[in-house]
Amino acid sequence: MNDSTVIVVGAGIVGASIAYHLARQGAQVSVLEQATPGAGVTGHSFAWINLADELPSAIRPLRSRALADYWRLQEALPALSINWSGALSYTKATLDSLPLSDLRCNPSLRWLDRSQVAQLEPNLRAVPERARYAHAEGSLEPIASTLVLLEGARAHGAQVFDATPVLGLQLDGPRVIGVNTAAGTRYADYVVLAAGCTTPALLAPLGIDLPVHASPSILIRVDAPPGLVKTLISNQQMEIREAADGSLLMAEDYIAADGPQGPHAIAQQAVASVRQALRGAETIALRSVNVGQRPMPVDQLPIIGQSADYPGLYLAVMHAGVTLAATVGHLVSQELLHGQCCAELAPCRPARFTLAPSR
Ligand SMILES: Cc1cc2nc3c(=O)[nH]c(=O)nc-3n(C[C@H](O)[C@H](O)[C@H](O)COP(=O)(O)OP(=O)(O)OC[C@H]3O[C@@H](n4cnc5c(N)ncnc54)[C@H](O)[C@@H]3O)c2cc1C
Repeated sequence: MNDSTVIVVGAGIVGASIAYHLARQGAQVSVLEQATPGAGVTGHSFAWINLADELPSAIRPLRSRALADYWRLQEALPALSINWSGALSYTKATLDSLPLSDLRCNPSLRWLDRSQVAQLEPNLRAVPERARYAHAEGSLEPIASTLVLLEGARAHGAQVFDATPVLGLQLDGPRVIGVNTAAGTRYADYVVLAAGCTTPALLAPLGIDLPVHASPSILIRVDAPPGLVKTLISNQQMEIREAADGSLLMAEDYIAADGPQGPHAIAQQAVASVRQALRGAETIALRSVNVGQRPMPVDQLPIIGQSADYPGLYLAVMHAGVTLAATVGHLVSQELLHGQCCAELAPCRPARFTLAPSR
């Protein structure tokens, strides 16, 4: 057990998982969230636990742990209720090849032929000749899962403060010793910044220019008859899955703020595509369209680790944060509480950027 004090800034799925893993090992954890848990991009995530997309190969070792780490987490927190539906992909890129590196990352990948795809997804009108199937992949309800993680953290003594924006970091020389809020300064041995797209703004007063930009992406929810989609389908026309409440979720690329390529127009096109693609989808109706801002490091690799220049400061900013949350929560707790240096995180270190201000 370890009784370090840690402040986690941000209650998205990444901060919640870090808080849970720290608290269950005895750390005294406070989570400070400016709004409500999941109010950041987590709340607008498609939330596919996905091992095989085109993210940089440097994080394959990190990413390849995701499924096992979610299984472990689900045993400890059964309320996470992950939907292990499997995922069917037949985009052009996935059909071109099934690289060995993908198989190493996700041994559950295999090819299915036309009849196997039709069996899995009986409502598909145009069944592809073949598709890549990752039977061990799944998805989660991002806000509900964030709340479950925070509840798990609370059960181990963590305190979670909603509506508590962190206004700045408190320094003692170069050491970060706490955070400033409207109610005063809170002190801790470590401050973990898991504030998503807002993290650069929190670092700017220290002279640190963290190369993370907000990358928009569209989440569409439609009311639909239950059971239209059995797995998670990713093809040229759509990325779609069923949510826990029976609605269908779709993720689409963001192109423009409004007009014929704006989110609402894209959502209408997506609904039309689904009506065409699936038998029984004629009555589906658009429920909501949201644009989430993904925290995207300039080289697309997560930024995870202690600051070399500011002891006491730890950064956890990443894309594919839903996929990575279980693994990152575990590894960050090992590093902070047990002084381990986790090899999987080596490509993610903040030190790969020149962040240090001249002092
Ligand atoms: C449409 C869409 C689809 C996606 N699909 C997937 C997918 O299939 N799989 C996947 O892995 N990822 C996916 N993502 C990305 C994923 O959602 C994010 O990587 C992940 O949610 C990031 O979580 P986070 O906790 O780092 O950030 P956030 O959820 O943004 O959490 C940061 C939190 O910090 C809080 N905060 C900010 N500043 C302060 C402050 N000063 N004081 C206190 N609190 C503060 C915010 O309010 C927020 O709650 C998708 C994203 C979108 C938009």
